[in-house]
Amino acid sequence: HSGEVDADSKRRRTDYRGNVATIASHYNQRAEVGIEQREFSPIIGLKKFNNWIKSVLIGKFTQRRRGGGARVLDIGCGKGGDLNKWKQARIALYVGMDIAETSINQARERWQTMRGNRFEAFFSAHDCYTNPIHEALPPQYTMRDLYDNVSMQFCMHYAFETPEKARMMMDNVTRYLKPGGLFIGTIPNSALLLSRLDEQPDDELSFGNSCCQITFAERHHQGIYGREYRFYLQDAVEDVPEYIVDWDNFVALAGEYGLELVYQKTFNDILQEEQSSREFGPLLGKMGVINENGESAMDADQWEAANLYMAFAFEKR
Ligand code: SAM
Repeated sequence: HSGEVDADSKRRRTDYRGNVATIASHYNQRAEVGIEQREFSPIIGLKKFNNWIKSVLIGKFTQRRRGGGARVLDIGCGKGGDLNKWKQARIALYVGMDIAETSINQARERWQTMRGNRFEAFFSAHDCYTNPIHEALPPQYTMRDLYDNVSMQFCMHYAFETPEKARMMMDNVTRYLKPGGLFIGTIPNSALLLSRLDEQPDDELSFGNSCCQITFAERHHQGIYGREYRFYLQDAVEDVPEYIVDWDNFVALAGEYGLELVYQKTFNDILQEEQSSREFGPLLGKMGVINENGESAMDADQWEAANLYMAFAFEKR
């Protein structure tokens, strides 16, 4: 009996130490932020650029419905940072899901306090890579062909830990998406990450710069799924494992779920293409990506971090 207690308290001690280490490293990293910058994120330029990219995607691919706006499912919606972008796109319904309950509560609150013509919304905390989403949604939000758009921003790569998770994710993405509906997302550019790893000496599994650091768990990996790395981004510390998304495998998998690739671009290409467009060019200034003189709010290292990502859109057949 006492042996059990011992094992238990030992486990608690280990957990405790683990947590302290995580918290400590978090604050250590925070402490590096300079005094003048304490009120501001040091990577504010990068955050604004990522928001502009998402605005472009949402603006380009949000569907219109006869007599109303689009119905949108946002998987891995986080704190609801895209709610205003969807509002700009004049949607009718927004269903936001995320595994993090605190983030979901924040998202709901953000929606509740939004001004102007408010669309209908529903929020639910759910592990969308392990469980079918209908388990966490009222039946009116899991009707056949309900959604015009499904969005997964900066979160899909977490599903590529196992084929089971990737398939559950794809099933959740496609099950209630109407034919002709669009699935949009942003993920790290895995081919680029792997080519950067290849450039490193054999015993070096890390690369990066002053604002981001990528560390692979192993140099070589068996199989397509579960190829793990950690992505450290300054001021956005999330020490959770991420997984390589093998692009060809992803496109083939999407095909099995009735999705056809219609758009695939690096963030750099999106900027080159859209910066002088009538619709999205002016947003660069409005969203603070560039200042009045047309200068970027990102330094070279942030720019390099931004270009580790890519965006995609698929159409449901
Ligand atoms: N989409 C938001 C955005 O663009 O600001 C949040 C992106 S954040 C980098 C990644 C999100 O994926 C986190 O909010 C995390 O909780 C969510 N996530 C990770 N695994 C998940 C899962 N299994 N089911 C649902 N959400 C998940």
